[in-house]
Order: sequence, then C-alpha cells, then structure tokens
Amino acid sequence: MSKLHLIIFLPFMAHGHMIPMLDMAKLFNSRGVRTTILSTLAFSDPIKKAQESGIEIGLIIIRLPNQESGLPEYIQRLDQVTTVDLVQKFVEAISLLQEPVEKLIQEFNPNCLVSDTFFPWTTDSAAKFCIPRLVFHGTGYLARCASEQMRLHKPFKNVSSDSEPFILPYLPHQLKFTRTQISPFDLRETEGEFAELIFQSREADRRSYGVAVNSFYELESSYADHYRNFLGIKAWNIGPLLLCNNGDEEKAGRGRKSSIDEHECLAWLDSKKPGSVVYACFGSMVSCTQAQLHEIAFGLESSGQDFIWVVRERRIDEMKSDFLPNEFEERIREKGLIINGWAPQVLILDHPSIGSFVTHCGWNSILEGVCAGVPMVTWPMFAEQFFNEKLVTQVLRIGVSVGNKQWRTVAIEGVQREAVAEAVRHVMVSGEAAEMRNRAKCYREMARKAVEEGGSSYTDLSALIEELSVYRRSK
Ligand code: UDP
Repeated sequence: MSKLHLIIFLPFMAHGHMIPMLDMAKLFNSRGVRTTILSTLAFSDPIKKAQESGIEIGLIIIRLPNQESGLPEYIQRLDQVTTVDLVQKFVEAISLLQEPVEKLIQEFNPNCLVSDTFFPWTTDSAAKFCIPRLVFHGTGYLARCASEQMRLHKPFKNVSSDSEPFILPYLPHQLKFTRTQISPFDLRETEGEFAELIFQSREADRRSYGVAVNSFYELESSYADHYRNFLGIKAWNIGPLLLCNNGDEEKAGRGRKSSIDEHECLAWLDSKKPGSVVYACFGSMVSCTQAQLHEIAFGLESSGQDFIWVVRERRIDEMKSDFLPNEFEERIREKGLIINGWAPQVLILDHPSIGSFVTHCGWNSILEGVCAGVPMVTWPMFAEQFFNEKLVTQVLRIGVSVGNKQWRTVAIEGVQREAVAEAVRHVMVSGEAAEMRNRAKCYREMARKAVEEGGSSYTDLSALIEELSVYRRSK
C-alpha cells in the first residue's frame, strides 16, 4: 500500500473533464493510493458503476448550489447551459462550492487535491490545509504550451487581418494559425463571467503545485520538455488515462449510457471488412446547425465509405424532428449506422473494422484515436481544439484537416460536403493512407508501452506518488 493516505479529486461538470478524472482516480487506486471523488449528480452514475465493478474509489456527492445561484435544477453540466444568463449562474454555482469542498478537505485530511482548472479557488483551499493542489486541464502538452506562448507573446497582434497567418513563437515546430482560429479568451476579446473564470483559472494554475497531464512522453516529447524546461511548469505525464479501462464493459460505459445497444453496434461492425469504416463524432459539447449536419451527411455519403455517425441531440436552431436530408437514412441503410445521442466511443474505435475517425479534436477523442491506432480527419471547433489539430496533422502526421478556419462553439455551414468527402477519402483510400495508418499504429503501441510497468507514464506516476508522499512527511 502507498504511503499516501488519500487523494481527493474534484472534476468539472463536463464529460470531457469528468471521464478522464474518473480514470485518473482509478489509476492512482490501481497503484495502491486511496482515492475519493467529490462529484455532483452530473457524474455520480459512472462512479457508482466503477464501484459496483469492484474498484475501490470513494464517492462523495456534493450538491451543485442551483437554488442559491438561481440556476434551474435540471442544469447539472456545462453542456446544458445555453444562454449568457445561465452561464453567469453556472459560474456562480461552481464558485459557491468552495465552502462545502473546504469542509470536506478538513474532515478527510487528504494528502493532495487534484482539481480541475475551472475551480481556481482550490489553489487557495489547498494552501489553507497545507496540501498540494494538482491542476487538471484535460488537454495535452502541445495545447498547454501553445496557450502559454499565446498569452506571453500575443503574436496575433502582429497581423493586419483575421486571415493572415502567424507563427506561435518559441515552440518546437512552426505552427501557423490565423486569428479566426484563436479563442476569444486568448485574444482577450471577450468579457463576462466565463471569461473571468478562465482568467482567474490561469492565474491560480500558476500558483498551484503542478499539473497532471493526460498524455504520454513519446506522443509529444518536445512539448513535454518545452512545458517543463522552457516554461518551467512542474508537470507529470500519466496518460493515456483511458488505458486503465479493460474489457468491453468498462470501455462502453464511459460518461453516459449509450443510446445504442452495444452488441448491436459491434455486430454491425463485425459485418464490415477490417479498416473499412469511418467513425464520425464531435464530442459532448458541440452543437450543429441543420445546414451543417446536411453537409456532413452528404459528405460522408459521397465519400463512398461505410460509416458510423454520431449525431448529437443538442441542436441550436429550429430543426424538424427529421433533421437529416430527405431519404438519407434509406439511401445509406447498407453503408451507414447513425447513432442519435451517445455512442460507446472507445468500444467502437477499438473495433478492427474502424479505419479512421472524423473528430472535433477534443483531447480525449484525440487520445482515443491514438490508442485505437487510426488516422483522423480533424475538424476543430472551439476550446483548444485548433492546437490539438496541429499535433495530429503536422507533428504526428496521422491525420488530415477538413479545413475549418473558424473558432466557434456552434458548427454552422462553414465546411462544405466536398471538403468532408475529400478528407475522408484522403485518410481511407489515398496514396498517403497506408503510411498514415502505419504511423498511427506505431503511436498506438507507444501508448500501450507508456502505461506498462517501466513505461514513461508509469514511471512518471511513480515519481509523482513518491513526491506527494515526501511532501506529506516533510510537513
Ligand atoms: N463520448 C462518448 N460518446 C459520445 C460522445 C463523446 O463516449 O457519443 C466521450 C468521448 O469518448 C470522450 C468524451 O466523451 O471521452 C469527450 O471528450 P473530448 O475531450 O473528446 O471532447 P468534449 O466533449 O470535451 O468536447
């Protein structure tokens, strides 16, 4: 058993943050450290499911202060927040968690608090109880480095138009962006509660003990070095966290209950040739207009490839209930499987019939694509996704961009069907496809080795556990 008595985890209420944090708690647990997650109702089911399967992680359900902040009771997660007024209330609600969380820290006396970047006050809470706070951003090293260099040097100020490219300085590769691809928070062109939360988070991150990174050294070694040595930030790479899940059951139930029977989905994939199916999914937050959905539909159809397409139920415009093109489902009956809602993504990606992944470049999705060893069509939309795209297309060269140039939380008809079809054919059947596939398979192997005993992530986690034990003893 580890000398560490307990680590407390505080995940942010969004699937892209909660899922890897549960994996992290499982991982520490597998190394003999007792772990407890403080979770609102938003994520208690997957934690209970893990407990029922025999994994000894603690769960303390904390109440999101909906009433006190004026947030309607049905809102428990960020993706349910749809208006500026609700954003303000949501931000207020999460700041009100400080008092109950501090009471729990006092009661349980943990060795360390691992909390999401969106809880900036946890740096001070940890300091109050003389324990280290590890920050979890849910992103990889390249994105962290890019974001820091953007903040420090503001290279977007040196261009005269939104479409003129600029290079982010000091990074290991010449990564070019246009202003339209940069978040309004990085451009400092936005105000309001959420922007304020992000700025406070960045300031609190810098005062925290260090950063737990869901990545592995071999994937982005030059950025891991840049982050730690050039930017001087203490960090441990302990991923890919998703690889702590074994067996179909654990892989399927990540985050939410699937909207499709998993066996039916696997049976459909079993009927297809190896490497012949495109999987398209845009994560848990993206919403799409009906016009853009139609472009995706026609693009997938005219690529000529078999596909699974996850259509998010979160829509922002007045769509009819039959929101897909007329007779689309009849036409693609043999070639396509549409999942309306939540897909068992890791289970699907790991199936041998999957040949590529059309992704919005959320960091979890990128890692899941890497661990499955499949090339990707990158379609970044917001958050740090444009940075992640560069890792896939330019650094690792295991994917091709669909060409989106506009940072936006809602996908409107910016990408045409021809671009979708061409990018899909590029990763599936072009002259470069085999090379890309081979490279992707190499990274898959490296990911597995990284988490095995003696691997880079395994060793970094050992070093982190040791350091936290010493921290406790020296106090
Ligand atoms: N996910 C899933 N099924 C879906 C959509 C998403 O299992 O239908 C999971 C996906 O596997 C990933 C997470 O939700 O682990 C999404 O995180 P990511 O960082 O990729 O994107 P975000 O949703 O945060 O934009």
